[in-house]
Amino acid sequence: MHTILLVEDEAPLRELIGDYFTAKSGGQWRLLPAADGTEGLLLARSQPVDLVILDVMLPDMDGFSLCQELRRQGDVPILFLSARTAEEDRLRGYGLGADDYMTKPFSQAELFAKAGALLRRSKGEAGRQVLSSGGVELDILAHTLSVDGERVDAAPKELAILRLLLESRGQVLRREDLLLRLWGWDFEGSDRVVDSHIRRLRKLLGPWSGCIRTVFKTGYKWEP
Ligand code: CA
Repeated sequence: MHTILLVEDEAPLRELIGDYFTAKSGGQWRLLPAADGTEGLLLARSQPVDLVILDVMLPDMDGFSLCQELRRQGDVPILFLSARTAEEDRLRGYGLGADDYMTKPFSQAELFAKAGALLRRSKGEAGRQVLSSGGVELDILAHTLSVDGERVDAAPKELAILRLLLESRGQVLRREDLLLRLWGWDFEGSDRVVDSHIRRLRKLLGPWSGCIRTVFKTGYKWEP
C-alpha cells in the first residue's frame, strides 16, 4: 500500500487522477487530495507519505515553496505536475529537489508509470531482481507476480515458465526445452504438460495474456 499526496487546486483533475490511480493500482495506492499548499503541508505532516505530486500554481503558496518546505522535512519523492512548461520552471523544480517534472496536459498512463518508478526507487526496491514487461512484473527473489500493480497468486512452475519467457523475450522457447529446464531429464509425461501450464499462466496475466504467443508446432515466445 502506497500513500500519495496530490496537491492540485483543480477538483476535477484531483478526481480524475484519484480514480485512475485507484483503478490502475488495484486499490494499492491511496491518494490524499489537497486543494492548496496549506492543506498539502498539513497532510504531509500528519502522516507518512510515499510520494507527493505537486501542482505549481496554487491559490495560496506556490508549489515551489511547498516543495522547499517538504524537502526541509525529509526526502519523500516529489513529482511536479504543472501547466508551466518553461525550461526555467522545470529547472527551478529540480533545483529545489524535485525528482521529476511533468507538464500539463499530461497522459494519465505516463503519470502513473512515473509515480510507480519513483515509489519503487524510494522503497529501496531498485535492488530487487525484477523482470517486467508491460503491466507484468515478476520479482525473482520474492517469487511474486503482479499484473497491473496487483499481486497475483501463481504456482512455482508458472512463475518459472514466465521467468524463462521474459528472460528470452522475442525468442521462441521450444516445448522440449521448457520441459527439460523445468522438469529435468527424467520427466516421463507428455510435453503437453507445458501447454496446460501456459494456459494457467495466461489466465493469471489477464489483459497481458496475449504477450505469450504460441508458435505453431514449436513452442512459445513472449512478445509485448
Ligand atoms: Ca493549479
